[in-house]
Amino acid sequence: MTEEVLEKYELVVGLEIHAQLQTKTKIFSSDSASFGAEPNRNTSIVSLGLPGTLPRINKTVVAYAVKMGMATHCTINRENRFDRKNYFYADLPKGYQITQDEAPICVNGNVRITLKDKSHRVIRINRIHMEEDAGKSMHDKDDQYSLIDLNRAGVPLIEIVSEPDIRSAEEAAAYFTEVRKLVRYLGICDGNMEEGSMRCDANISVRLKGESAFGQRCEVKNLNSVRNLQRAISYEFRRQVELIENGGVVEQNTLNFDAANGTTSVLRSKEMAFDYRYFPEPDLPPLHLAEEWIEALKSELPELPEQRIHRYIYELGLPEYDAYIITEEKSTSDYFEQLVKLTPHYKAAANWIIGPVQSDLNEGEKTSLLLKCSPCNWRRSLP
Ligand code: ADP
Ligand code: MG
Repeated sequence: MTEEVLEKYELVVGLEIHAQLQTKTKIFSSDSASFGAEPNRNTSIVSLGLPGTLPRINKTVVAYAVKMGMATHCTINRENRFDRKNYFYADLPKGYQITQDEAPICVNGNVRITLKDKSHRVIRINRIHMEEDAGKSMHDKDDQYSLIDLNRAGVPLIEIVSEPDIRSAEEAAAYFTEVRKLVRYLGICDGNMEEGSMRCDANISVRLKGESAFGQRCEVKNLNSVRNLQRAISYEFRRQVELIENGGVVEQNTLNFDAANGTTSVLRSKEMAFDYRYFPEPDLPPLHLAEEWIEALKSELPELPEQRIHRYIYELGLPEYDAYIITEEKSTSDYFEQLVKLTPHYKAAANWIIGPVQSDLNEGEKTSLLLKCSPCNWRRSLP
């Protein structure tokens, strides 16, 4: 496929991002929601889905979903409810997942992203809903059996669904990174992709430039790093263009991404698509969010990256570049906050963080070390 042919087409992507919420207990029971316990330890009768057990909503989950809605400029649906999504799988003991379908908690938001060339784009959010995670199946631990760990069953998730507004792999990466930044600033999800705290499905289609209708899309499931998200998008773009150019049609399939060779393969075809038979969850009453409660949550919101960037540029006089770098990680930005209380030389403080401090630390250390170092210890090295 020549660049010239690829140039005729436009990429269209919408992301569904799952973020695991950092609550002490699960969404519908008092089982611990912590990661890393011995298999099948956090599994009371509710997590096991035994007949006769009933779900009870964890209020913190609702609070976290509302905060994410506020951080992404969504409308918070004061009236929202849960639905059942029915399917059969061994790691889903109840035979259904409790989620939100028709009346999600947050709708119509947006996230502003910044690209490498410093241009900005706004990616609209269709909805954010709450749901429970399923258990974990392991097919490679035993040569005869598949093993199942239900510790994750019932762990709270929010799913953030974008509109199909993304037009390049770079934009997808920037959007994902921005969402990750927001959940981490809000303190509602640790954003740890290796542990699966954040995962994403990418809906990908192509169309001829200038065309107004969208092309048929494929959905690549469970991308577990920003890099793989970009690789899957680039691969699909070429594959779909090539297919169309050769007179074929894109079928609406669910795909798997193989990280080892960078390709996608069909997981489920349209004919095999599940009929989830959604219906309102009869064991949970609809939620009515009180106005005072929403106001209280609003007052608890921390200063978010966008506001910090604005303040660093317009109040502290930092260059845009510095403001972006410092706010990338909340811990770095918090540290900078402490530092500028001790010196009026804001630019020097920024230089020092962006230069020596950042380059001295590895990814993993950034959080711990920056928090450990009291700014007073570093004061001597400042002008
Ligand atoms: P479904 O009802 O099948 O879940 P939705 O309409 O809710 O589908 O869309 C799911 C995701 O797919 C959203 O993130 C949306 O932006 C994205 N999407 C929808 N149509 C397209 C398309 N033609 N190309 C790329 N992404 C799309
Ligand atoms: Mg949908």
